[in-house]
Formats: sequence, structure tokens, C-alpha cells
Amino acid sequence: MMRKGAQVTLPPGVQLRMSAAARRVSLRVDASLGVVLLVVPKRLSLARAADFAEKNRRWIDRKLAGLSPSVRFADGVEVPLGGISHQVRHRPATRGTVWVEGREIHVAGAAEHLPRRLTDWLKAEAHRQVNALVDRHAEVVGKRPARVTLRDTTTRWGSCTPSGRVAFCWRLVLAPPEVMDYVVAHEMAHLVELNHGPRFWRLVRRLVADTDGPRKWLSDHGIRLHRYG
Ligand SMILES: [Zn+2]
Repeated sequence: MMRKGAQVTLPPGVQLRMSAAARRVSLRVDASLGVVLLVVPKRLSLARAADFAEKNRRWIDRKLAGLSPSVRFADGVEVPLGGISHQVRHRPATRGTVWVEGREIHVAGAAEHLPRRLTDWLKAEAHRQVNALVDRHAEVVGKRPARVTLRDTTTRWGSCTPSGRVAFCWRLVLAPPEVMDYVVAHEMAHLVELNHGPRFWRLVRRLVADTDGPRKWLSDHGIRLHRYG
């Protein structure tokens, strides 16, 4: 029998998740639950798992700080577009859909449709921006993806399959442009180098000037992008 999680003390905000498949203990952010999961292989002692969590407390606190509170799309809330704060303005009397004026995002139509309308618009905007970057990087890489998909992924910002399908999290539209550019460049480089070896990184650096800055930004602030919607 497995001992109960309550018998070990875990840092606040950390939830225990026993796993038959896990080979080693790890920490994972679950933005939808608003917690950090401590994934523990069934055979590992809970005391050792708790030790691991304790040793990584700074990392946990940093991730949790970015998780709350969540921001529901509504009139007056601030939403980062391209990393710059924009205020959402509900325009019930106006026809049309969504448009940007200065540092404001105007959303027409009934209030109950505002969250969906704004989310759809942000996804479309993300798609447009990602496609433009894909076109630009494809010239240097010498390959085009078989398909470009935008998703709402919480664990990865981008992915690339061996068959050349690339996918991105639409929330990158909320990050500074150089962050989205880096993530697109990263996956475009995988079309040629499906690994993280030296040749892969050389190619990424041909596509974007800076890789360290955007990677650090994602690690420090990326989780915040999941608060919106
Ligand atoms: Zn990669």
C-alpha cells in the first residue's frame, strides 16, 4: 500500500501526483489547475519526493507567483498584446468585431460574447504573426513546414514533428515579439535538425539575434500568459 500524501509536508501550492509511468521525480506546472505538480514514480519514497520539492522551492515559488490571479476578458481589464499592456474596451453599440486603437483593444457586440470574440481575435492575430515569421525563416532554413497549427498548449510553446508539422501556443501573441520570433525560429530549425545539438543551435542563431533573452523571458514570465481568457 502507498502511504498517504498527507503524511509528508509539501511546499504550499504543490500537489502530489503518483505516476506508474514516471521514471524519476519531477515538478510540472499545471496552469489550468493553478498548481505545481510533484510527479512521483510509484516506487519512490514520499519522503525523498518531498525532499526534492523542498530543494526546488525557489523554482516552485517563482512559478506559482506567475499563476494567480487569473484575468477574465472583460471591459477595462489589461491584456498584454505583443508584451505591451492594452486595455480592453467593450463597444456594445458598435458594429464590427475587434480592433486596436493605440493602447486599447475594442470589442463590439454583446457583453456575454466578449471573452470568446477577443479570444478568437487573439488566436487569428497569433496565426497571422506566426505565419509571417514562418515565411521569413523558411527562406533561411530552406524548408517549409507541412502544416502550421495554433493551439492552447500549457506545457510547450512550440513543437515540431518528424513529418514537419509545427504547432504553437496562440498565447505567444501576448509575449514580446522577440519571444514569439525565437519560438518560431526554434521550431523552424527543427525542420532541419530534429535535436538540440550544436548544429541546431547554430541554425537558430542564424534566424534570431538573441536566444538567451527570450528563453529566460519564457521561463520567468511564460506561465503568466496562461492567466488570460
Ligand atoms: Zn526544441
